[in-house]
Amino acid sequence: MSTPPSPNTTPHAALPGGAFATRLAADALAGQPLGPDDALRILTDEQIDVFALAHAAYTVRHHHFGRGVQVHILNNAQNGRCPEDCSYCTQAKTSDADIEPYPIKNQEEVLAEAGRAYDAGAHRYCMVFSGRGPTEKRTQQLAGYVRAVKDKYPSLEVCVSAGLLDDEKAQVLKLAGLDRLNHNLNTSRARYGDICTTHTYDDRVNTLLSAKRAGLQTCSGLIAGMGESPGELVELALTLAELKAESIPVNFLLPFEGNVLDTPHGLTPAYCLRVLCLFRFANPSADVRCAAGREYHLRGLEPVSLLPANSLFLDGYLNGRGAERRRTYAMIADAGFDLVGDHCVDELRDALPADTPASTAAAADLTHDGVAIKTMDELRPARP
Ligand code: SF4
Repeated sequence: MSTPPSPNTTPHAALPGGAFATRLAADALAGQPLGPDDALRILTDEQIDVFALAHAAYTVRHHHFGRGVQVHILNNAQNGRCPEDCSYCTQAKTSDADIEPYPIKNQEEVLAEAGRAYDAGAHRYCMVFSGRGPTEKRTQQLAGYVRAVKDKYPSLEVCVSAGLLDDEKAQVLKLAGLDRLNHNLNTSRARYGDICTTHTYDDRVNTLLSAKRAGLQTCSGLIAGMGESPGELVELALTLAELKAESIPVNFLLPFEGNVLDTPHGLTPAYCLRVLCLFRFANPSADVRCAAGREYHLRGLEPVSLLPANSLFLDGYLNGRGAERRRTYAMIADAGFDLVGDHCVDELRDALPADTPASTAAAADLTHDGVAIKTMDELRPARP
């Protein structure tokens, strides 16, 4: 009779980069700001195992958010025909993307869509309006929308993205009950002129400062993959820390046909995960959202994005289709997370029909074959 092999008691080598990652987490939990050299190593040092980083980032995420996942649903409340030239945007005047433009939705439609978002487990409802920025009259209209949504769904957090704002307009929205204002910085100061010429980086920073002065929380993020260097992403991560952004949507450029900027650069699943870890370590208590492009760019690592990130979008992005709801709910539930808010992810998932070959094929499209533009039915599910 042969002797069974004895258990291997040789200690495993330490996870490559484990000590570095553990120190990042300890510093973040102790309130020690992330330094630029360490920040750059997160993105560039391939000796540091990306899973060691994600695990360490999870200890920070867990400290602030436990196993909760904040689901955000976007309402594209006014689509296209924007006079600005942001080269990544399907709504820009310079884009030939095949989107379906429409003027601002009325309050009834917005309210009906807010109800749908609440029922789908949204923690936050984000109304997005294309354009450079609202007039005073339009700001009053938006304030009315905010008031109506807050009155009907008090537990639903409300965010508005409406372009450039000054102190007065931010104050009007704050008084209406707005929780958070979104205005992404998108890239580094040095690169801003390469992606947009109709407004400046400082215009964007000033909008965030106006929001802060009005007492609004700020949501400001980025689009990785626009040709920026790792150092530029570091600069942005540290700038958002300085600005104390409460929420950071981390978008990954999607290759929309017809956009000026239609080709993502340098994004692998592991690099995207590093980017999410960078923003978590630089902004330990911020909502870090794995935003546009999670399906397309994270691919097999998509569930792992919930280690550094505590939030995601459901039902796609402004004009880009995302994963089907059931698939996203299942991803959250399978990883042992649950939703923040009034709903349970298992119940929401089980209330939907099981995956079909068609839905599985649609999910595969999102990860391999490109991006799909939303149809009018998807953009305006409550159209009167
Ligand atoms: S990002 Fe906003 S301001 Fe820029 S083109 Fe798109 S809708 Fe217009």
